[in-house]
Amino acid sequence: MTRLYELGERPPTGVVPDKMYASVIRPERFGRPDQAFQTEVVDVPQVGRGQVLVYMMAAGINYNNVWAALGKPFDVIAARRRKGAAENYHIGGSEGSGIVWAVGEGVRDVRIGDHVVLSSAQWDEGADDIRAGTDPITSSTAEVWGYETNFGAFAQYTVVHEYQCLPKPERLSWTESAAYILTGATAYRQLTGWQPNTVRPGDPVLIWGGAGGLGSMATQITRVLGGVPIAVISNDERAAHCLKLGARGVINRTEFTHWGRLPDIEDADAFSAWTAEVRRFGARFWEILGERRAPRIVLEHSGQATIPTSIYLCDNAGMVVICGGTSGYHGDVDLRFLWMRQKRLQGSHFANTRQCRELTRLVAEGLVDPCLSHVGEFGDIGLVHQLMYDNSTPPGNMAVRVNALADDE
Ligand code: NAP
Repeated sequence: MTRLYELGERPPTGVVPDKMYASVIRPERFGRPDQAFQTEVVDVPQVGRGQVLVYMMAAGINYNNVWAALGKPFDVIAARRRKGAAENYHIGGSEGSGIVWAVGEGVRDVRIGDHVVLSSAQWDEGADDIRAGTDPITSSTAEVWGYETNFGAFAQYTVVHEYQCLPKPERLSWTESAAYILTGATAYRQLTGWQPNTVRPGDPVLIWGGAGGLGSMATQITRVLGGVPIAVISNDERAAHCLKLGARGVINRTEFTHWGRLPDIEDADAFSAWTAEVRRFGARFWEILGERRAPRIVLEHSGQATIPTSIYLCDNAGMVVICGGTSGYHGDVDLRFLWMRQKRLQGSHFANTRQCRELTRLVAEGLVDPCLSHVGEFGDIGLVHQLMYDNSTPPGNMAVRVNALADDE
């Protein structure tokens, strides 16, 4: 039995304590994120075949654990218990950085002491669909680590699969490395993964939430690929951030009123008011672009409030690519635009290993910045998720220190 180590206190390399500090969500605390997360002492997870135990230095903050804290629209704890899990709690956190502390049988490419970035999805490499050639992130076995699975990044130790370990870009601090892969690789797949609708030089791309985590990464990736990013924002601070990242211009969504579900198709007045407003939004897009071209790709994640506009505005044979529904899931699609203009509405979810590696290379070479805007301490995990839920985060991505100390940065 080894003792509990304090946060930031490092045991000798390879020595694994029995207990650790973790930021824990329990069903009885579901609700406001700033109440739902509490620091507790729990068992250190066991490393299995093909797995790696990582001493966590820092963890990135993402919207999925806002949903986990709320307990809706999906109760992650109940879902796991239905499948036989024993724990009645959730340790979230779907990205992070740390030091390899132990390796399981069969691990080939990482060694104890390696500095790694942890990517966000897990799957069964031996699953039938993966053996048959499916992209692993679309496998029926794929799950988001630290959201659908337990024992994520918000703890002193975590267990991941070997393929989740990416080399930590040397130029980045622990907190910077912890904060880019979830939003960055998701945006990278959205913008490069859906042939033939990938960003080509000169392509206009409309990016919702341009100053958010996904939007900040999408703006930079679009620019690196030669596209023309135009970002949507809701205040001046966020506008300045997007322009600094290379957006051609920004549209402030608070200047428009047509958000949410489409009006009743029988209500001609309401429909023509909606159409006038969406056209005004489109005219603003043309004005920024400097020509009357529609976005060839619309990067969606805001969902219910914006999807009718995305579908309307997207170019003929263009693509609306969606990975979330911050404002709600009950989105309306006017199918006439979809078929007559041969548009594509494509779902997209995180990324595969190749996409994570390619994005990491862009980050390591300094072509994409993690845009880390806020670093919290371990005890702030609930608070930073609350900021996210309240849409009052600073522009970019956020991280918390786990075992990293301010001096390690
Ligand atoms: P974030 O940093 O909080 O940014 C979200 C942005 O959305 C905000 O900056 C806000 O920008 C904008 N927004 C909020 N409410 C809006 C509304 N009603 N209409 C239009 N825009 C709105 O979050 P994020 O990390 O970028 O994640 C965004 C969403 O994508 C979340 O729902 C998350 O769960 C999802 N996501 C999914 C995956 C996946 O793999 N499936 C991966 C990453 C993220 P303004 O207020 O400035 O417009």
